[in-house]
This record gives sequence, structure tokens and C-alpha cells, in this order.
Amino acid sequence: MNMTSKTFTSMRRLFVGILFAACFPLVFHSAIAQTTVSKPKNIIILFADGTTSSQYEFGRYSSAQLRSKPFAVTDVVIAKGNYQLMKTESANYYVTDSAAAASAMSIGYKVNNGVISVTPDGQMPRTLMKVAKDNGKRIGLISTAPIYDASPAAFSVHAKSRRDNEAIVSQYLELSPELLMGGGSNYFLPSSQPGGKRQDGRNIIKEFQNKGYQYLSSPAELNKIDKPKVLGLFAEEDLDYEIDRDPHEMPSLAQMVSSALKVLNQKTKQGKNLGFVLFAENENTDSAGHQNDVASLMRDLWAFDDAVQVALEFQKQNPDTLIIVTGDHETGGFSPTYGRKNLGVAGSSNYINVDLSQLKQIERFTMSLNEFSEKFKAKVKAGLNRAELDTYLTQQLQEGFPGLLLDDDLREKILAQGQLGPNSNYLPSNILALAIARQTGFYWASSGHTPAPITVAAIGPGSTIFKGIDDNTAFAKKLKILIGQK
Ligand SMILES: [Zn+2]
Repeated sequence: MNMTSKTFTSMRRLFVGILFAACFPLVFHSAIAQTTVSKPKNIIILFADGTTSSQYEFGRYSSAQLRSKPFAVTDVVIAKGNYQLMKTESANYYVTDSAAAASAMSIGYKVNNGVISVTPDGQMPRTLMKVAKDNGKRIGLISTAPIYDASPAAFSVHAKSRRDNEAIVSQYLELSPELLMGGGSNYFLPSSQPGGKRQDGRNIIKEFQNKGYQYLSSPAELNKIDKPKVLGLFAEEDLDYEIDRDPHEMPSLAQMVSSALKVLNQKTKQGKNLGFVLFAENENTDSAGHQNDVASLMRDLWAFDDAVQVALEFQKQNPDTLIIVTGDHETGGFSPTYGRKNLGVAGSSNYINVDLSQLKQIERFTMSLNEFSEKFKAKVKAGLNRAELDTYLTQQLQEGFPGLLLDDDLREKILAQGQLGPNSNYLPSNILALAIARQTGFYWASSGHTPAPITVAAIGPGSTIFKGIDDNTAFAKKLKILIGQK
């Protein structure tokens, strides 16, 4: 029988009807899922900038092999909680930066790279921390970067450029998070004061103190907190990588998170404890990726995991707490693999396979590639000749990188301050990183960000809404539901 157009139309109606009937309960079901999801009182977002599952997996393997210690991110939060993959492209590029990624996760809309929570058409939807504050939650921001850096800024305030440090800090004062901790005192102080960079002459530390904040500038002071609002700035700019950190000068991420949980878990002026939202970032995991620095990455992954462990302990005492472990994008295309020992034939007899001995090699390093790079560039600037630079390089390797073999071609590139390749933009770090890779198998694809999907792992009430794969804008929408947006 030939199908007439009338039959076709009625069949199409029937098909559309069936489709609608089939879809409606799904839509209805998902609306219910959204309204009935358990809402945690407290939310702790532990943010390892520049990381996804390949970095967490390295944290797990290195922690098990070298420390015989479980890695809480993989062995507790992912294994016992829920997890989701997150897409990261920005409004204008496939490969995002931290500003655009964190903005999408905060306001629920895509923005261009470099922009802090302002959409391409100029809109400024409320940030996640503002929503939390408007809902009566206490809020806290922690970063090992300057506290005005892209990720904490995008979760809280708005700026047309991530470089508007002065404006970002001024907005922090207005938003008044109950807790701010990290680096970056330079944009809190006027340029007339030592270490100050503000052009408007304001002393924002004083202004916070006038609003009742306790100001801390050293790790020892973390034990002396006696006010409900705290500003802690422990460096003019970034806090050091864990591998370089002096514990008397700068606190660890775990120490900051531990103090923050005490400060935030308090009653408001009205005598109620409506809970809190804490955003705590390890920025050094991203910086280590840019530098292609596997030893620093390992130490900072462990330091991040110590902070996750602190949050899990808090959750045991306060089960109405949701813990989310995530990041914004992957950095470096981290690629441990089996490379050839030399340029002889490919094959198993000529491969370096990553195992305990390779890990033990990188465990011996005591200096970040960034520290090495800064020191070396200072000597170049000071005018050392080539022979002097060569001697200095050898000393630096013995001091910070015992056991590292530097092939002649790479030594030459460092001494000549040459290039390595078009996507190796952190020099001479990336050159020394290639020497480490040749010896240990810890290769990297790039010195920049990559679009690898990001792991969102969550444990506690409300964690079930993180599943499958979703866009980074959905992170904001889910968090707003969990906060109970008004
Ligand atoms: Zn980065």
C-alpha cells in the first residue's frame, strides 16, 4: 500500500505524541530529582586547578608506591561518592583559561577567556558565592595563588579582565566573605607602602580590620584565631609550591582549610548556623603543569589530598556537609608513558617503564622547576658568561635535582637560552622537564591548558546529582539548587 500524505501526517502526529508522552515523564522526573535532591547545610569545594583524572591517578599511584598511603581523592571521594565528567570550552575558544572556566562554574553562563564572570554581552549574573551569601550562608575563599586570582575571583565577583586585581580586591571588601586566605597582599596595600601595588592609595587590609576582621600574616597566627571573620595573606604574590615551601613562612593548604572550617562553622549574628560554602584552591597543581614539573605536581597533589582528608574528617563530625573535588581544566597534557632509553630501536628492551625506581628518582628532587628557572634567569640577567652559567647550572642540578642526567642537546639549549618548541612557553623549565621525562618517562604534551574533560567528584548529601557528562555551566546550576537559591 502506498503511503498517502494524509496517512503520513497522522502517523507523524502519532509519532510526535508517543515521543511527547515518552519525554514528558523524563522531564517531570528530572524536575522532581532537582527539587527532592537532599540539600547539604555545608558545601566544601576543593579545587585543584589544572587537574583531572590523569593527575589524580598519578597522585594515587605515587602516594601508594612512595608513602604506602591511600589517596583520598580517588580512594574515598571518587570510590565511595559520585563522579561526573565536565566539559570546559569557553565562549570563544575550545581551550579555556581559568577565568572563563571558573566563571562558567560560578554564574552558569559561558564567558570569554580572561574574563571574570561577565558574559560576552555584558551581563553579570550572580556568582555562586553571592548566591550563597544571599541565602544566609557564611562564605570562605582560599587559594595558594593570590586570593584575587582568576578562580576565587570568578566564584565571587565580576571583572572585565582577570588582571583587574585592584577592582577584584575592592569587590571582596563589599562582598565580605567571612574568610579569605592565600597570597596576594600586594593588591591590598597602597603602592606607597613596601610590597603594595594599589594605585588608588587604599589600604584594604585596614579596611577589612575596620569591618571587624582579624588579620593574619603568618602560619603561627592560624592558632590564634578568635574572631568570626578572618583575612589571612601569607605572601605578596603566590604561596610557594609545596616542594619549596617553608612551613614557618607559609601555611599548607590543609592548615588553611582546617582553620577555615572552624571559622565558618559558626552561628551568624542572628544566632543561627545556616551553614557555609568554602572554596579552597590549590593553584600550584596548574602552575606545575605549565612548568611540566612532575616532582612539584606530585608534592602539591599530596598537599591537596591532605586538605581533602581534613574536609573528610570534618564531614564525619558534620554529616550534613557535601564535599566536591574538582578543577577547571587540565594543564600540560600530563602523559607518563614508556619512552625509549636512547634513539636505538624501539622495543621493550629499549623502553623506560615507569615504576617505583622512576618515582624514587623524582622524589629526590627538592626544588621546583620554577625556582630553578627564576634563579637561572637571575644569573643570566646578572651577566654571567657562558662558562660561569655552565658551572652554575651544574651546581643547581646537584643541589635541587640529584641524579638527574642532562643530555648535551638540552644543556646547550638552556645555556643558549634557546627555544624548545612552539608550545613550550615556560623556559628554561620546560627544557629541564624534558630531561626529567627522558630519564623517567614522565612526559608532557604541552606547557598550556588542554580540553580534557574534568572530573567532578562529590561525597555527601546532594552528591548524586553529579553523574554522566555535563557542561561546566551546569555546575553552577547544580550548586545553586544545592544551596537552595532564593
Ligand atoms: Zn593555567
